[in-house]
Amino acid sequence: MKRRLYVKFLLGYLIFFILAFLVIAFFSAGMTERYLLHDAGERLYTEVSLLADACSAFYGSGNLDLSNAVPRIETVADCMDATAWLMNRQGEIIYDSDQTDTRKQISDFNPADSGQEPYTTGTFYDHFDREMISVYASISGSYRVSGYVVLHQPVSEAIASRDRILNVVYVTGLIIFALSLILLFVFHWIVYRPLRKITVAANRFAEGDLDYRCALRPEDEMGYLADTLNYMASELSKMEEYQRKFISNVSHDFRSPLTSIKGYLEAIMDGTIPPPMHEKYMKLVISETERLTKLTQNTLALQSLESRGTYLELSDFDINQVVKNTAAAFEGACIPKKITFDLTFSARTLMVRADLSKIQQVLYNLIDNAIKFSPNDSIIWLETSERFEKVFVSVRDNGIGIPKDSQKRIWERFYKSDLSRGKDKKGTGLGLAIVKEVIQAHSQTIDVISTVGVGSEFIFSLQKPKDEGRKVSS
Ligand code: ADP
Repeated sequence: MKRRLYVKFLLGYLIFFILAFLVIAFFSAGMTERYLLHDAGERLYTEVSLLADACSAFYGSGNLDLSNAVPRIETVADCMDATAWLMNRQGEIIYDSDQTDTRKQISDFNPADSGQEPYTTGTFYDHFDREMISVYASISGSYRVSGYVVLHQPVSEAIASRDRILNVVYVTGLIIFALSLILLFVFHWIVYRPLRKITVAANRFAEGDLDYRCALRPEDEMGYLADTLNYMASELSKMEEYQRKFISNVSHDFRSPLTSIKGYLEAIMDGTIPPPMHEKYMKLVISETERLTKLTQNTLALQSLESRGTYLELSDFDINQVVKNTAAAFEGACIPKKITFDLTFSARTLMVRADLSKIQQVLYNLIDNAIKFSPNDSIIWLETSERFEKVFVSVRDNGIGIPKDSQKRIWERFYKSDLSRGKDKKGTGLGLAIVKEVIQAHSQTIDVISTVGVGSEFIFSLQKPKDEGRKVSS
């Protein structure tokens, strides 16, 4: 199996982290820098405003008292790690805390240059050779501006702070990245490994190895899926076995009558069977063709019961009448064996809710068996009764009976008990399988009570009519 899913997951994971890194490196870095510059600018502006106010107080009779103003400005510059200036109105630096450029003129200084912001960034009229945050406030008295207090701080400090913050973010990100590798292991154990096992199992099933089992504990959906696959394989395997048996049984059951028909006809044609005996053997041929017809009908009946999911056309009808009619249909078959029917009904009419034609088929198969396996001059008892909100129909005979170990198997397709083989050469072994299928489709039960040499009784239940009429499919 190609490790595509694994690689995709890993790739997605890496792409996510690279994108996260890029977002931090560019977007967050820019935002942090802007925030830090703004913060530094605000702080400097607060200080410069206080200094300007103080200087304005030391401004008397048109002259600034430098002896009072300078120590204060110096202190603030030291505390803030900044460069502080005192400028006169013309932009001449009359005091510089770095004491380097005094008397230097900022000729094109314009107090309105900072615009909306309380600070500016840059080289401050090309005075510095590196980027600075600069703030200034005017010293005024008697309604005139006499000069400016200016504070400068290198932008590199804000950038250094930004880098320190980003370093913390990077380290945290790396730790989260390392921790999130746990997710990868969880994915491997919970998704990838079971999925591989399931894929291997599915491939084995596809190759026809239906005995293979996917070994996953059914703790989660994957385990449940594996279980479902295993169940599917076992059902397919059963189905395969059933198909194999079905085909071998059908071909066997078709082959034997065909072989006899061919044998008889050839013998008639080549004169092995003399003309006076022709009638006898033609009757045998007809009997064999009847057996083939029955086999075909039964196979088709079962096939349709299976493929259509036993679609029932439910209706309310009198089961007593159906029993009477079905028994009457067997009159011709009973005469040669001198078999009579004994009908016992608990009430004149007994209504049931079922699929009429299918129940007729059930009765037909049961009575047909009872006649087949009953001795001459015997009675077949047909009985209907009502118990526990249900109707019970019984078909009882005095026939050969069914051995205990065969009683469970008689419902299987193509099963014929050894005891019955001699009595019934035309049997297909499908009659009771059809009966069972129909009764189960009605969600009812059928039982057999039988003793070898005494007789057999088949009893099935039916549902009594309900108020609402509906069609059921199962
Ligand atoms: P078939 O169509 O060959 O009769 P069934 O499925 O109806 O097949 O019956 C299966 C087997 O069950 C029969 O071959 C027979 O051995 C046994 N059986 C069914 N009904 C009776 C019965 N009334 N008495 C004795 N054996 C029976």
